Amino acid sequence: MAANILDGKAIAAKVREQVRQEVEELKKKGVHPGLAVILVGENPASQVYVRNKEKACEDVGIKSIGHRLPASISQEELLSLIRQLNQDPQVHGILVQLPLPDHIDQKAVIDTIAPEKDVDGFGATNMGNILIGDYSKAFLPCTPYGCMVLLEEAGIDPAGKKAVVVGRSNIVGKPVAVLLLNKNATVTICHSKTPDLAAETRQGDILIVAVGRPEMITGDMIKEGAVVIDVGINRLPDGRLVGDVHFDSAKEKASWITPVPGGVGPMTVAMLMKNALEAAKRTVK
Ligand code: NDP
Repeated sequence: MAANILDGKAIAAKVREQVRQEVEELKKKGVHPGLAVILVGENPASQVYVRNKEKACEDVGIKSIGHRLPASISQEELLSLIRQLNQDPQVHGILVQLPLPDHIDQKAVIDTIAPEKDVDGFGATNMGNILIGDYSKAFLPCTPYGCMVLLEEAGIDPAGKKAVVVGRSNIVGKPVAVLLLNKNATVTICHSKTPDLAAETRQGDILIVAVGRPEMITGDMIKEGAVVIDVGINRLPDGRLVGDVHFDSAKEKASWITPVPGGVGPMTVAMLMKNALEAAKRTVK
């Protein structure tokens, strides 16, 4: 079986178009959604991510308010900026690009962002709300949210399916597992201490991989007809960008599969736009 391609680029464009229209509507009510984007230091990958996010804001009509800070900034100075942005009515969402320099406590930074502006969805309040299944005040973390929209677009209802998630990071693996559980999938989470990874992944009707190891999941590790979502983004020494899934062998087994690039990556940015819009909408009484 050759899999259908889950075209993240096209689906992300659709999400962004919906956001653009809703931003227009909101502006008519006098609310112009604003997203503060904080970049500390000069990590080249982070600079690219931030530029992409700012371009996406421009594209959908969200005001992006950039803060470029030197790597030498103290934690207290950064926290003080965030507290100031928490109070600023023009700022509906606050995004701090990760990773941060070693002398800054990432958790302290994330937890200083007001929950109602935590559009990346990484804060403890937000994670707690997701864990208990209360989405009314929560923001779904952008990459897991993107994975769920991709499933929806493929017409896949996770209810009653066996979902296998490889990776348990706080930004992808754990939250996507919870979102699948909340949609009534039976979920297995695998990680570096899982003894027989292939035995687990072969059970998955839905397989989501977020590890950061180029092409580690091969076709023989995939259940016939599975839906495969590859979150990984890996740059090979020859410059090629590949996922955590070996695409050519996997597509012979899967019913649906995301490509890399052009799968989850564009969805992450699109869902950030959706969350920033949602944060602004929630301020309208
Ligand atoms: P982390 O490094 O934080 O987590 C990786 C996870 O993979 C860990 O839970 C680790 O297990 C697990 N792991 C490592 N080796 C193995 C193995 N041999 N078998 C099974 N599990 C293993 O990564 P992230 O979650 O932040 O990112 C994962 C990938 O997704 C990266 O390639 C990243 O670039 C990409 N990414 C893509 C995004 C997008 O928008 N498309 C957004 C975010 C990330 P353990 O916990 O035991 O160490």
